Amino acid sequence: MTSNSNIQYSDKFQIHLRFQLVKVAKNEFRFVTISESIKIKIDNDSFPLEKVLMQLQKGISLKSLLSSVPKLNQSETIDVVESLFKRRLIEKINQNPTLSKNELSLYDEQIRFFSNFYASIQTDTSVQTESGAYAIQKKIKHSKVCIIGLGKIGSKVAQGLSSIGVQKIIGSDFSKVTKSDTLHGVYHTSYIGKQKESVLKNILMQVNKNTKYSPLKKQIQNASDIPKGIDLLVLCEDTFDPQQFDLINQICLETNTTWVSYRNLGLKFEIGPTIYPFETACFKCYSLRKSGAMSSYDNYIASQQNIVDNDIKIGSMNQSFGSDLLIMDIIKTLTNFSRSSTYNNIFSFNLISFESENHPILRIPRCPQCGASNKKPLDIWQ
Ligand SMILES: [Zn+2]
Repeated sequence: MTSNSNIQYSDKFQIHLRFQLVKVAKNEFRFVTISESIKIKIDNDSFPLEKVLMQLQKGISLKSLLSSVPKLNQSETIDVVESLFKRRLIEKINQNPTLSKNELSLYDEQIRFFSNFYASIQTDTSVQTESGAYAIQKKIKHSKVCIIGLGKIGSKVAQGLSSIGVQKIIGSDFSKVTKSDTLHGVYHTSYIGKQKESVLKNILMQVNKNTKYSPLKKQIQNASDIPKGIDLLVLCEDTFDPQQFDLINQICLETNTTWVSYRNLGLKFEIGPTIYPFETACFKCYSLRKSGAMSSYDNYIASQQNIVDNDIKIGSMNQSFGSDLLIMDIIKTLTNFSRSSTYNNIFSFNLISFESENHPILRIPRCPQCGASNKKPLDIWQ
């Protein structure tokens, strides 16, 4: 080994998860990913490159690797390992996986996808790979998400989060499954007439046995109704109810709960913003900016409230447009593998023109809900 080498005989190496090996010629391979194709070629015909790479793909210590090749190839094997390591084609791995064998095989393709990103998350245990793909999956596993509204969108979001591996999902929706819900949601006709938040447990068990779902069993009316220890609250009722948004915004600020929302606005849908209390613009900041910019906004909100209060049906497709985008953004928020697209942003998509927009949303310093004067003052009289 060279004097400045930072590899040891006892180190265990593995080809970075994101690479698939493609053999081009006897001692020529390509490391292929969704965005790269890197050539590896050894001119020495007697070098057992295929054997070395196959073992590195499974994961092997340098010591064991050296003992598997003829003596005359050993020093070149060290050079190859060093070079692959420097080029970040192989990585050092920890022998102690933090996900079960069953989870590793269940999420295999997804972990490979995450291996294209660098984790910016800290874990309590050592991260096994430089990319942190396992750490991302583990973070998803230990996330706890509360979904309010389990209709077309919410039920799909619950299903999606379960399939991605979120173990703790809490659902809130007292309404009953209707015939129409069975056309486009996740509900089977045998659930018609039953409460959505109760039957979802069976549905998610079918999706992923690892999911631990529980119904909230109460409507969120004040801060004490927010489940303890949730990483994210998702508000996605099928109809946009301005008063409920106002209430959830206030409660999430009080309880320091991160939340994201979805709105079906007839011909378009909106996702976000993802609100980090007192860090990003809150929903009130958004509404105030909107009413400042659009004189008709307050009228629009009043008429929308009227529609909700009187349960007026204005028509919508039997589809759940955007639920998959919302799921993707939730996973970004939970793991930080990439920044959430709705961080200080609202994403909107027009169903007719297929135009999409990302509107930046800035905080309002004097916002009546999240402005500086709303941070709880220190109570010195206690
Ligand atoms: Zn605000």
